[in-house]
Amino acid sequence: MLINLSDVLSEYHKTIEKDCLVEMEDFRSELGTFPITKKGNLHIVIEHIKGRELFIKGNVELTIAIPCDRCLKDVPTEFRLDFEKTVDLCESTDAQKDELDEKNYIDGYHLDVDKLLYNEILIEWPMKILCSDDCKGICNVCGQNLNEGTCDCEDTSLDPRMSVIRDVFKNFKEV
Ligand SMILES: [Zn+2]
Ligand SMILES: [Zn+2]
Repeated sequence: MLINLSDVLSEYHKTIEKDCLVEMEDFRSELGTFPITKKGNLHIVIEHIKGRELFIKGNVELTIAIPCDRCLKDVPTEFRLDFEKTVDLCESTDAQKDELDEKNYIDGYHLDVDKLLYNEILIEWPMKILCSDDCKGICNVCGQNLNEGTCDCEDTSLDPRMSVIRDVFKNFKEV
């Protein structure tokens, strides 16, 4: 969705307040494509502060399905985005490039809501995703999800003498 900024830029202290539909269906980055499974409306406030400077404030809640780092099962991950920023539309294009396309969501007199959100999601992207803290992952040999069941790969790859030690260890733990 595009928000027309020409009206808010026509006068100082003019404000736009809107609830916008998020059109993005999935989040694409160099890590892959992740479906957005739940989304609220983006509540956004845009205020013309001075010159060509805008103050932008927004919040939205989204859920994105991200695979667990260990077992690859999709984990519904909540993003509660809440941001505030000041944008100077006058800054030279060189300065904009230095900001890693921070303002790529403003094109002329239009603000692209989805592009703005894309940047915010990227900032909040978690370093690590686990379906649970004790996720057992998948078997490297057969791909079995070890949270859902066991496989025989591990036992055959281990030295039989090791399994004796393991049993001792197990018994020890149970005491
Ligand atoms: Zn997992
Ligand atoms: Zn296996």
